[in-house]
Amino acid sequence: MDLHYKLQAAWDHIITTYKPGTIELTGSIITQIVGFIIPATLYMFIDTVFPKFSQRHKIQDARRQPTRQQILHCVKVTLFNHVWVVALHGMLVWFAGLDHATLNLDPIVPPWTEFIVDFAFGLLAREVSFYYIHRALHHPRIYVYIHKMHHKYITPVAFAAEYAHPVEHILANVLPVSLPLYLKGAHFLSIMGFVTFELWEAAADHSGYDLLKLPPAELHDLHHEKFRVNYGTIGLMDWIHGTDVVGWDRPKVKKAE
Ligand SMILES: [Zn+2]
Ligand SMILES: [Zn+2]
Repeated sequence: MDLHYKLQAAWDHIITTYKPGTIELTGSIITQIVGFIIPATLYMFIDTVFPKFSQRHKIQDARRQPTRQQILHCVKVTLFNHVWVVALHGMLVWFAGLDHATLNLDPIVPPWTEFIVDFAFGLLAREVSFYYIHRALHHPRIYVYIHKMHHKYITPVAFAAEYAHPVEHILANVLPVSLPLYLKGAHFLSIMGFVTFELWEAAADHSGYDLLKLPPAELHDLHHEKFRVNYGTIGLMDWIHGTDVVGWDRPKVKKAE
């Protein structure tokens, strides 16, 4: 029995057993837990249980790492951000009515090729939208009111990925990841898979470890350290705009050196 057949059988069971609203909300909660809370907790586990390993492999120096108190504060705010976004989704589902789907819950599971196309589209749309939103958040007139909060952690840890002002959390973290695939009309399972990947990527990008180079965590780590560099997620938009080097306002001079 191939994997796609098993997935179709499981999906058949889910859509004939539960109401659309229940499926959407449960899927959203599972995505947050599997994509972010479990990986971020595992990264924190490595930080605290294996400090020597952590010191050897962290991108930034051990002396610059946040204190236990700062990490606890970060975990509290981040978990709160997850809870209120799920609550918001719950309210939308409630107002739409549990019997009505707000996402594409087609009984036919799409072929793998459609999952791959959705993934590539989602990745590109997220890179472009996140880049410009993130860069706008660095505008001097906006920065102090919203994005300064996310930059509290110059040496980030995984939970710091979602440590953000509520406005930023919606504008930069939630919408660039979920809205493009929603507007494309992608299947619910495809959206769940993509959002799970993106949440893990955000946790890995902030973890302070760049062991596998996938994702290239060093890029966003450097953004937390130097601020005006590497605004994007996969490096494409930074390459186009020349912000992929330290001191983006004088990259040509840097390159000439
Ligand atoms: Zn960040
Ligand atoms: Zn920033």
